[in-house]
Amino acid sequence: MTENQTKIAIVTGASRGLGKNTALALGKKGVDVIVTYRSSEQEANSVVSAIVGMGGKAAALQLDTANTKNFDGFIVKMNQLLQEQWQTSQFDFLVNNAGIGINKSFAETTEEDFDQLMNIHLKGVFFLTQKLLPIIKDGGRIINISSGLARFTLPGYSAYATMKGGIEVLTRYMAKELGERQIAVNTIAPGAIETDFGGGVVRDNQQINDFIASQTALGRVGVPDDIGGAIAALLSEDNRWVNAQRIEVSGGVLL
Ligand code: NDP
Repeated sequence: MTENQTKIAIVTGASRGLGKNTALALGKKGVDVIVTYRSSEQEANSVVSAIVGMGGKAAALQLDTANTKNFDGFIVKMNQLLQEQWQTSQFDFLVNNAGIGINKSFAETTEEDFDQLMNIHLKGVFFLTQKLLPIIKDGGRIINISSGLARFTLPGYSAYATMKGGIEVLTRYMAKELGERQIAVNTIAPGAIETDFGGGVVRDNQQINDFIASQTALGRVGVPDDIGGAIAALLSEDNRWVNAQRIEVSGGVLL
């Protein structure tokens, strides 16, 4: 892999929020991006247009990361896309970002809630990455998105944070086993960020927003622009020796 070859990234859940911001930040750095979305096709297409507008290449693919039965079909589409748009069979960077939030107390969390969170945040990431292994380049990188909630506790996130804790462990195992292919794997753990996540609660509920700001060393809640650039920077050549780490990007929350 030569340094000046254009890199190709795939970002799951890149139609909105942090995934979208990451895709755009990568586009700004000259990385081509495959944007996946679950249902927001139009939003995903506008992310693609924005990257094309910056002079890069991009494409959107539908993928429900909660449903492992879709993954074989998705790999077929990925192979076609890589051949048609890039005349290659492999990509460089995978950002496992797609996700949802469910805020329910431990006592009230149902088995259905648990399964939904597990399927998206843990099982989906595990098996999607496994299926993509043959088409990630040796020397490529993987970033898994966790959450500050895997380090500290706030009521209502027992199931969600359990999955994110699992992702942090999985990151270290991936790094250990994929190291022989020179693939570095890290976790980015955002603090609370103003997106649609969890019904937009961090952005739209002033009381929660003020509480988080009061607990954050830098004195405010995060915005998507605080995250996408950090992920793009971690994927740059300058950070090639960072491996198996959990990097919290939270302005210093609940220290
Ligand atoms: P948003 O709700 O703003 O965006 C979620 C994205 O994920 C959308 O693109 C959505 O696609 C996609 N998505 C949701 N479910 C699925 C699914 N089953 N299959 C495929 N794609 C799916 O959330 P954020 O951007 O805030 O969250 C992104 C990641 O960051 C998540 O992993 C979340 O847990 C994590 N995180 C978020 C924090 C925050 O405060 N915002 C804090 C810490 C971590 P579509 O538009 O098609 O529905």
